[in-house]
Amino acid sequence: MIQYLDHVYYLVGKVAVWIGASLLLLSLVVALLILYSFRTKKFYFARVMLIGLSLVENLVKALFWLARADDAIVDEVGVSLRNYINRGKFYRTPVGSRFIFMPQCVRSVDCPAKLTPEGIMCVECGRCDVGAAKRVAEEQGYRFFVVPGSSFIKRIIRKYRPKAIVGVGCQMEIKEGLTLCHSHDIPALGVPLSKAGCVATTLDWDEFYDVLSGAGNGSGNGRGSNVAGP
Ligand code: SF4
Repeated sequence: MIQYLDHVYYLVGKVAVWIGASLLLLSLVVALLILYSFRTKKFYFARVMLIGLSLVENLVKALFWLARADDAIVDEVGVSLRNYINRGKFYRTPVGSRFIFMPQCVRSVDCPAKLTPEGIMCVECGRCDVGAAKRVAEEQGYRFFVVPGSSFIKRIIRKYRPKAIVGVGCQMEIKEGLTLCHSHDIPALGVPLSKAGCVATTLDWDEFYDVLSGAGNGSGNGRGSNVAGP
């Protein structure tokens, strides 16, 4: 019996070592692909990379931390990667079925807009760039929402079932938003804020308009330069 248990413990230990080594190897490969994408602005094996990143994101960040590299790169490339993968389906969706979610923090601090069940109702007063963005987006056929809080997006998705989404926000909000959209099978593109925070945040509006029209590649890495495909 003891010999049998020893054998079982030995096998369990061996399997654990193999799993650990495999995860470490996968993390190393994903970390190298992320660094490569960050430097060259190109993606190779994009879907494999995304699956790998979903599986071992924390380990990859730990490797960045050990190498004294900025682990924010992992989130940044992760967002660009999802944008890159989603953009084909996004632009094939009729523009009338595409929604835009703009965070309320981009507004002027003197914004006169009122909160309604459909979000913060921008009256295009000209005190910030949101009004012009709303006008341009609606002229193109998009539905445009200024978001008062994160639960609002879930409610609007449930209510109107958009077929594609553009989300503006900080890296973390975009990352969570892209995951949420993926769970609803909605192709989404994220446009990261160029200066995050709670009020008076800023956005690269050229990048935003490029994403709307499809003029850019929609990868939205938030550094003013987009990651291109191979
Ligand atoms: S343009 Fe719209 S969002 Fe900006 S301050 Fe005026 S009402 Fe508010």
